[in-house]
Amino acid sequence: MTPEEFRRYGRQVVDRIADYLTGVEQYPVRAQVRPGDVRTRLPASPPERGEPYEHLLADLDTVLMPGITHWQHPSFFAYFPSNASGPSILGDLLSAGLGVQGMVWATSPAATELETLVVDWLAELLGLPERFRTDSAGGGVIQDSASSGALAAVVAALHRASGGKAGTEGLTRRYTMYVSSQTHSSLEKAGRIAGLGADNVRSVAVHPETLEMDPAHLRTLIEQDVAAGATPALVCATIGTTSTTAVDPVRAIGELCREHGIWLHVDAAYAGVSAVCPEMRWINDGVAEYADSYATNPHKWLLTNFDCGVLWVADRRPLVDALSILPEFLRNSATESGEVIDYRDWQVPLGRRFRALKLWSVIRWYGAEGLREHIRTGIALAQRFAALVDADPDFELRPHHPFGLVCFRPLRTDALALMEHVNASGQLYLSHTKIGDDVWLRMAIGAPTTTAEHVDAAWEALRAAQSR
Ligand SMILES: *Cc1c(COP(=O)(O)O)cnc(C)c1O
Repeated sequence: MTPEEFRRYGRQVVDRIADYLTGVEQYPVRAQVRPGDVRTRLPASPPERGEPYEHLLADLDTVLMPGITHWQHPSFFAYFPSNASGPSILGDLLSAGLGVQGMVWATSPAATELETLVVDWLAELLGLPERFRTDSAGGGVIQDSASSGALAAVVAALHRASGGKAGTEGLTRRYTMYVSSQTHSSLEKAGRIAGLGADNVRSVAVHPETLEMDPAHLRTLIEQDVAAGATPALVCATIGTTSTTAVDPVRAIGELCREHGIWLHVDAAYAGVSAVCPEMRWINDGVAEYADSYATNPHKWLLTNFDCGVLWVADRRPLVDALSILPEFLRNSATESGEVIDYRDWQVPLGRRFRALKLWSVIRWYGAEGLREHIRTGIALAQRFAALVDADPDFELRPHHPFGLVCFRPLRTDALALMEHVNASGQLYLSHTKIGDDVWLRMAIGAPTTTAEHVDAAWEALRAAQSR
């Protein structure tokens, strides 16, 4: 493709994206296809001869679009939001256009230095502690996802707990880590990948109502494990669990971690970005004093399209020591001078995209003010929906909803059947969770285009479906 052809098709593609965002409401929110529908409509083998780009765009319209679930639809309320925005899409396009590989400083100094700047900016916007900033002992890094951040934290924690030997000698002792039944599955997965064994990922009890981790039970488990000869390596506290946005008592958990020398990872993948609003900073109580690492995803609720997960550490040494390997082909004088950051040492893969560009675009376009307004709108709409549910005797509201997620259930009909009915209608898209044996529906609000009318319409659709 010549640059002139690129210009022609590129304009068409940008126009299409703008048209898509303008008209996204015309689509059913959840894809209406059946398994195999998309694949069987496309040739099984690749073309021998190159094709005009128009052919691809035509297939996009007729074959792929019906198989798209519209995450940017204002009535997408499933899982957690995955916001995109104009500035973030443009930032990602520029990143693709430059096509740089920012594995070490020397392979594109601007990619590294802009990343350092934006993770420090984001730390400031969220009111995160000074020690997470790159000019202190810590620092932040942009990774693909909070799951990768969790794995990096587990590996750093094992490095520290083993006195630096885990990487070279393997796990010669039994190490344990602590999560709750509400912790995201990525933590158990990280424990398995890191070689702890799923049995050594211990599950701490939660409060039956609030679903917060119980620090007293955490203490019991740690003491039992230590008595049995194990070495506790990491505790994960969650701010805003995936199921119900419960907030673990980070301070009490952190005090225990400090007492036993255990790494405290704070997983705030979804909710952490809400701290752009000063009135939400309470969520990070205890983080400044006790967290060794902290993860949040601008790619969920902060207008930055997937992928963009930020991991901060209070001390970058254990992370970098655990993950740095310097093959000969990457030797360079900048790295040897010790004056630069090589982010490949802060993550599992070597290669890295220039993700800082899109986060930088978003922060500059919206400003702190615009980001706060976005979060506040999501929270206010969630409060509005919660009030509607609460006022209806045919529904039960779960009381804890400080962010954009509301959990509720119908009392006169089966929750999963109700959910399937509204999701199949294409008008809105909800997901569910289980607490004990009970199914609850999750209404996660947070798309920048969602308004009170969309929330009210969703509620009307749910009420109509339940009295069907
Ligand atoms: C979404 C989520 C994750 C996983 O995030 P990815 O970026 O998809 O890996 C982890 N923890 C919590 C609490 C989440 O909500």
